[in-house]
Amino acid sequence: MAQQEDVFKKLISHSKEYGFVFPSSEIYDGLGAVYDYGQNGVELKNNIKKYWWDSMTLLHENVVGIDSAIFMHPTIWKASGHVDAFNDPLIDNKDSKKRYRADVLIEDQIAKYDDKINKEVEKAAKRFGETFDEQKFRETNPRVLENEAKKEELHTRFAKALNDNNLEELRQIILDYEIVCPVSGTRNWTEVRQFNLMFSTEMGSTADGAMKIYLRPETAQGIFVNFLNVQKSGRMKIPFGIAQIGKAFRNEIVARQFVFRMREFEQMEMQFFVRPGEELQWFEQWKQARMKWHKALGLGDKKYRFHDHDKLAHYANAATDIEFEMPFGFKEVEGIHSRTDFDLSSHEKYSGKKIQYFDPELNKSYVPYVIETSIGVDRMFLSILAGSYCEEELEGGETRVVLKLPPALAPVKLAVLPLIKKDGLPEKAREIMDNLKFDFQCQYDEKDSIGKRYRRQDAIGTPYCITIDHDTLNDNCVTIRYRDTMAQERVPIAGLEAIVRDKVSLKNVFKKIAES
Ligand code: ATP
Repeated sequence: MAQQEDVFKKLISHSKEYGFVFPSSEIYDGLGAVYDYGQNGVELKNNIKKYWWDSMTLLHENVVGIDSAIFMHPTIWKASGHVDAFNDPLIDNKDSKKRYRADVLIEDQIAKYDDKINKEVEKAAKRFGETFDEQKFRETNPRVLENEAKKEELHTRFAKALNDNNLEELRQIILDYEIVCPVSGTRNWTEVRQFNLMFSTEMGSTADGAMKIYLRPETAQGIFVNFLNVQKSGRMKIPFGIAQIGKAFRNEIVARQFVFRMREFEQMEMQFFVRPGEELQWFEQWKQARMKWHKALGLGDKKYRFHDHDKLAHYANAATDIEFEMPFGFKEVEGIHSRTDFDLSSHEKYSGKKIQYFDPELNKSYVPYVIETSIGVDRMFLSILAGSYCEEELEGGETRVVLKLPPALAPVKLAVLPLIKKDGLPEKAREIMDNLKFDFQCQYDEKDSIGKRYRRQDAIGTPYCITIDHDTLNDNCVTIRYRDTMAQERVPIAGLEAIVRDKVSLKNVFKKIAES
């Protein structure tokens, strides 16, 4: 665990040092849980968004996009339940004065049983070597079974308390399980209270009666209120989906995990409208499709898992998360929810407008059901960074830090490096770059030794470096160096575009999704 925290700290400082993520307003000592993306961060983030957007709108003929405003009519948040129903249970530690989400404290306690079980399994795997039967061990080992039973007991009690919205019981669980404040180490807890996450502001001048409006806490509602606009103007037939990427704002309390939990963040959401009664089969289909999308990046299938929800939100009849193995454990990156007809029906009620679809095949009108896939750009960003960060021992005792980013997402695709700063090499390098810069994000670097320049590119995850030397001027070949293997090869300049394109194009990732 300590080692993992160490990795997380390194990741945060690496992000800052190499222009991926900076704390917001840093010269004023920062602003809690708000971050800025730097020159490499924004490229990576844009590539992630492109990967999502294109996969939604190119691979699915029946998914189209929109871009709705952040400000919306305040009644929308009444209809969605955000004004009244969405509240987090909070608890304060009286000694450290720190505030926590009670459900998160208990979930961390549940995760401790998993850690214990995994340690037993790891120990046994070492002891038994190749003959180890993990499944049998998990089913029969008394210590594993004991921890499983304890976990189950806590789990059941917790799920019931959440479902009943029983705040006293949540507090009692924290006391009974002797959960301590990670900062003060004490069990001196307040009562559990409800807290609303929405930021509000005022629209218009106060003199003529300003209206209280909210910064949207999710992008989904912008899709629901435009359902009829898109359906009619695009002559869309059910089933179809509407995708959107945009900022969302939540006054989060447990904001200690870098870009994992921010107060201003970005979501990529797609709402898929289906016939009532067919929602669970579409839920299953989207669940599988979304998992394929994640795995196609090649960070390792074992890093992902589904986590079904214990407590369904008031609008859902099925929900699961796709979790990624972050340096601080498996955590939600994406949520997939079957939202029933809750939102559209609720907007019908609050707006007084009919929001229905006439199904020509069934010859009747209905309020469509909805499957939602909702993923945070920033959490996705963090999962990619965490899954790509490597420290490698090299021959001769040297180490290198390399981001083994999926090439299609890397901020810079190709570094162009003249061996020395004279003899016409920089001019030749510029000539090559001028040919490739319209297709790929290229970076020119002539400072320091080649070794140092390679390290700088490794640290930002550039998949290819090419070196221009004296021979290049005669044979029109360059040395290409591959990031992951560090292998070097002599290739003709004319062949560069094809080599780079083959690995960095999203098309090949999409083909992988289509084939799997
Ligand atoms: P959590 O339980 O971790 O608070 P959530 O279940 O409230 O997340 P959703 O409302 O389902 O999250 O939001 C969909 C996605 O938006 C999440 O899977 C996550 O990737 C992202 N997201 C939600 N809250 C934040 C945040 N504060 N910072 C960054 N990303 C977020």
